[in-house]
Amino acid sequence: MLRRMVLVLVASLAPAALAWAQGTPGARALPGGFPDKPVTMIVPFAAGGPTDTVARLVAEAMARDLGSAVIVENVGGAGGTLGASRVASARPDGYSILMHHIGMGTTPSLYRRLPYDPVNGFETVGLVTEVPMTVIARPSIEARDLVSLVALMQREGTKLNLANAGVGAASHLCGLLLQSAAKVQLTTVPYRGTAPAMTDLVGGTVDIMCDQTTNTTEQIKAGSVRAFAVTTRSRLAALPDLPTATEAGLPGFEVSVWHALYTPRRTPDAINERLSKALQAALSDPRVVARFAELGTAPVDLAMATPAAHKTYWMADVAKWRPIIDAAGQYAD
Ligand code: ASP
Repeated sequence: MLRRMVLVLVASLAPAALAWAQGTPGARALPGGFPDKPVTMIVPFAAGGPTDTVARLVAEAMARDLGSAVIVENVGGAGGTLGASRVASARPDGYSILMHHIGMGTTPSLYRRLPYDPVNGFETVGLVTEVPMTVIARPSIEARDLVSLVALMQREGTKLNLANAGVGAASHLCGLLLQSAAKVQLTTVPYRGTAPAMTDLVGGTVDIMCDQTTNTTEQIKAGSVRAFAVTTRSRLAALPDLPTATEAGLPGFEVSVWHALYTPRRTPDAINERLSKALQAALSDPRVVARFAELGTAPVDLAMATPAAHKTYWMADVAKWRPIIDAAGQYAD
């Protein structure tokens, strides 16, 4: 069943601290005055990681458009459900927003007992970006390429540690895919996010990880981790020497991680629209576009950065995952 879940994962995914910025004076405000104080953007993973990196870039640029600070707060743990729970129970006034990822598509099926409603607990603001993943390992790993990494995994099995950000995290899903491709199970080590996992990987405390390029590109370039493959159909301009998984010997191993912004249920449409406008301004900001490119990603088409398009995309993802996860019978609880 795990194998089936992973195969469908391939098919379905293939196509596919504190930072604040003061807004510029005179920026537009809603008639109700929104926003007239700082907006808090909750990131459900640790500071310095891939979701956090995307959030801080977007928050700073949104603040310029909103004319108000956007403060990033990290509430990591339990595969992103702690931070999501915080936003679901916040006041629906637009001052608490959530930057989450593909976990919003898998959580409703993976977690059967949550202190919040993972689907109806939120309003949508817009999609942000779809980020490729990379397979990386501690710099001293006894493998030079993906084929020899798979052979090492098969030889060592549970003696090797695979870091992730908890059940339902992108690193968890990608790690499942990798283990399934190698037909082996490693020892899983969950973190509050892949930033602390990266620290341990660089230090050699854990062995292997699969993570978004928004966390791995600079470490790969600096040579502080060993990189084996990128999970896209073609190579990335940001990492031209890194082969695709297909080139490296695992055909069809393609994963990308969508990110999006949410507000608590019953946040007024006008506020979600205003936040969406600010998101679109952020995604059009040349500084954001350039930094995304350096990190191996790009903003979504602006038409997708709207509440309606995001809702349709998200609901399709929830519907896609439910039968896969139910068939696998593997739940977080
Ligand atoms: N990359 C993490 C994940 O596996 C999340 C994060 O730390 O941003 O989902």
